Amino acid sequence: MKVVAYSAKAFEKELLAKFNHKKHDITLISNPLSLETIEYALDKDAVLVFTNDDVSAPIVNKLADLGVKYIATRSTGTDHIDKQAAQKRGVKIENVPGYSPQAIAEHSVAMAMCLSRHLIQSSIRGRKFDFQLDGLTGFNFYGKTVGIIGLGNVGLATASIYIGLGCRILGYDVNYPKTLHSIEKTPLNELISQSDIISLHVPLTADTKYMIGMEEIETMKTGVMLINTARGGLINTEAALKGIENGKIAYLGIDVYEHEKSLFFEDHHDDEIKDPLLEKLMAFPNVLVTPHQAFLTDEALGQIAEQTIKNLDLWALNDQKENFAGAGRL
Ligand code: NAD
Repeated sequence: MKVVAYSAKAFEKELLAKFNHKKHDITLISNPLSLETIEYALDKDAVLVFTNDDVSAPIVNKLADLGVKYIATRSTGTDHIDKQAAQKRGVKIENVPGYSPQAIAEHSVAMAMCLSRHLIQSSIRGRKFDFQLDGLTGFNFYGKTVGIIGLGNVGLATASIYIGLGCRILGYDVNYPKTLHSIEKTPLNELISQSDIISLHVPLTADTKYMIGMEEIETMKTGVMLINTARGGLINTEAALKGIENGKIAYLGIDVYEHEKSLFFEDHHDDEIKDPLLEKLMAFPNVLVTPHQAFLTDEALGQIAEQTIKNLDLWALNDQKENFAGAGRL
């Protein structure tokens, strides 16, 4: 198969080559997919994309015009792809469901602990040889109530870490898994109002967009911790900023941000104008922002590359079968 991989980062190039075994002819491009870079897809069978590539309807249509039949995203989430446009043009989509949920769960809990124990401030001070303890008082997770929204692969992996820490777990999902060890099924509004820590693990869809807005924040416990490693659009960031400003939210940890496209994964250090909302948020010491890196472990990257190549293998096999059947009819 002829393939072009957009947004290919140094850390995944070797892994894609390793699992490909030279089966597919893959061109690696570090730039994201956009109208400027789309011509690299000319005469390719498939494109490989990542979360911040533009896979909106105009791009999908152009890809189809260029002869692309398949889009494989190297992510679990598919919210960046216009699936209706792809279906209309007969372009097939695959993702990497359920890869190393522990990678995301561990990052999510690491953010929570980093915030609760003020590790960033402590480290900044320490590097200046200021070893005072004032302002660094944290809290124990033991005995706290954690609300997990979305009990899929990552939500359950996150819950099991918090269970190990001795937390009480409230869980909400539209489709609960069969077994829920030590997780109390809880309606969303009750979970939001009773939790000390709220952790988001649902996909971004029309139903989940802004599921945490002004109203929800108002009903949270004062001093709540809110952690989001799922998708930025789940939280109305303006509302979260207000929550931080008025003290309702005591800690905010986000690995994803609603305006992260064309911002995350690149160095914007020298930009004259920086995202003002993110700048405002990051000025607060009780806000921790990481640039969509929860997936970034050796184990997760290996599984993403392996499954992505498997997706290409299956399509290639399918193409062979169709060609064989077509030849048989001649
Ligand atoms: P999953 O499909 O296993 O679980 C998602 C869960 O959300 C399911 O149980 C589903 O029933 C539930 N859900 C869907 N819509 C809902 C709604 N409206 N209300 C309540 N529950 C709803 O997915 P996962 O592997 O656990 O991943 C969760 C999300 O994490 C992904 O969709 C992706 O956006 C995000 N993610 C982020 C990173 C990262 O690096 N930050 C990496 C991987 C995944």
